[in-house]
Amino acid sequence: MILIINLIIAGYFLYLSIYAGTIIIYIFLFLSLVNIVYAYNVLSENKRLKKEKDSQFLKVTDLTQDNFNDPLTGVYNRRYFDLVLSKFIKKAAKYNIKFSVLMLDIDHFKKFNDTYGHDVGDKVLKIVSSTVKEHIRGNQDILFRYGGEEFVIISMDDLTGAITLAKKINSLEFKGSPEKITVSIGISSYKQGEDVVKLADDNLYKAKEAGRNCFKY
Ligand code: GH3
Ligand code: MG
Ligand code: MG
Repeated sequence: MILIINLIIAGYFLYLSIYAGTIIIYIFLFLSLVNIVYAYNVLSENKRLKKEKDSQFLKVTDLTQDNFNDPLTGVYNRRYFDLVLSKFIKKAAKYNIKFSVLMLDIDHFKKFNDTYGHDVGDKVLKIVSSTVKEHIRGNQDILFRYGGEEFVIISMDDLTGAITLAKKINSLEFKGSPEKITVSIGISSYKQGEDVVKLADDNLYKAKEAGRNCFKY
């Protein structure tokens, strides 16, 4: 804005200098020159500030990427889940966006640790996270490690879509483990004023009660 005003003033002085007498010409020319230099300085300063802001933003996003990854599985962690969920809840209220939460828990995971040791337990966690990640839709579903042997997906989909996704996950073959891996899933589709995570967790409990390797909603 300042730049435009200054360029207009500079132009006006130039215009006046054409019609004025000799000394006045020099004064007006000088004033227009001052204005052009000033406008140029404002422009380069703005460019510099924008560059600095961009590099600061890159630094911040780099930092956050380190803080939001689970070191064992490489997927996003619980901290990031809390942040993304709060953003989704705000957006859902404002723009009437539908989303669902799927809570995944590896069935009888303790037996992998107890029978084969913690290294195999860790490997099972990596197998589950990478297999699930491979089969979710990159632009609609986000996978997080919720804690221990529990994972959570935020899916930008309604209940029907979340059920389709859960069916797909339950049908996956988790390769590379000494014993068959299965998961139980609790689903909840977000509704304003409800605790979507607690409802998904309650449904996960129901899936466990129903015999595991299944989903409930
Ligand atoms: P359920 O089917 O009811 O879910 O039984 P479960 O055995 O999967 O569940 P439980 O809660 O009894 O056991 C979970 C175990 O996961 C206990 C804990 O020691 C183990 N665990 C948690 N985090 C890790 C980890 O990062 N690595 C390994 N190897 N084990 C972990
Ligand atoms: Mg558990
Ligand atoms: Mg478990």
